[in-house]
Amino acid sequence: MGHKSDIKLIENGKRTDGRTVDQARELTMEVGVIGAADGSAKVAFGNTVALASVYGPRELFPRFMQQSDTGILRTRYNMAPFSVDDRKRPGSDRRGQEISKVMKNALEPVLFLQEFPKVTVDAFVEIIQADGSTRVTGINASSLALAAAGIPMRNLVCACSVGKADGHLIVDLNGKEDNFGEADMVFGCVPETREVTLLQMDGVLTRDEVCTLLKMATKTCDDILVKQKQALKDYYRRDE
Ligand code: ADP
Repeated sequence: MGHKSDIKLIENGKRTDGRTVDQARELTMEVGVIGAADGSAKVAFGNTVALASVYGPRELFPRFMQQSDTGILRTRYNMAPFSVDDRKRPGSDRRGQEISKVMKNALEPVLFLQEFPKVTVDAFVEIIQADGSTRVTGINASSLALAAAGIPMRNLVCACSVGKADGHLIVDLNGKEDNFGEADMVFGCVPETREVTLLQMDGVLTRDEVCTLLKMATKTCDDILVKQKQALKDYYRRDE
């Protein structure tokens, strides 16, 4: 992550998967994919696919974890062993724990958890195919799953990655770009209020580049929001 290499990532303005620098991968979203969950969604950025399921609000056990004045959001991010070609070691690891926390922090600000004292809302993300930018794909899927579960939210949260490869500023990094690019930035926001709920960066960028990337990420999140709303509308209309 964030180290230079001899691998050519951009040639004649085209990226390894044929995209232009400011083009996100094909983004697909489907709400209501896991019947037993209170809310669920499947989101794909190209070959990166995340499944999110939300359960709750439900009573929190053990009881000492309950908070008398508010509900809590618990998140769990996991990469399935078959999500990458060299098989990911199953189970919890440091990276998964960190990403789970980052997802919780990105999503929590839009939830009215004070309305549910003592209870928990659980959001589980399973990455079933990983090709870069999995945490942002997981956040977009969780945001939809929370909405589909009917959890009171003031807005949707959108997230994307941006970065730098072969000297070019790019949107929505794939696995190669994430591994061999010069820098990557992960951005999550509430487009409708312009709040930023996630920002992580690896590598070296100039201040101007950071500003440009923030604008590119903001624009991409605006596009994501349109798709999220459409996916929710499609879900609520499907039984009509
Ligand atoms: P993100 O997926 O959010 O960009 P990272 O920067 O940690 O998070 O990971 C970048 C990419 O590296 C992932 O999307 C995935 O394609 C790949 N990757 C991460 N962990 C593993 C792993 N254990 N085995 C194989 N590939 C991995």
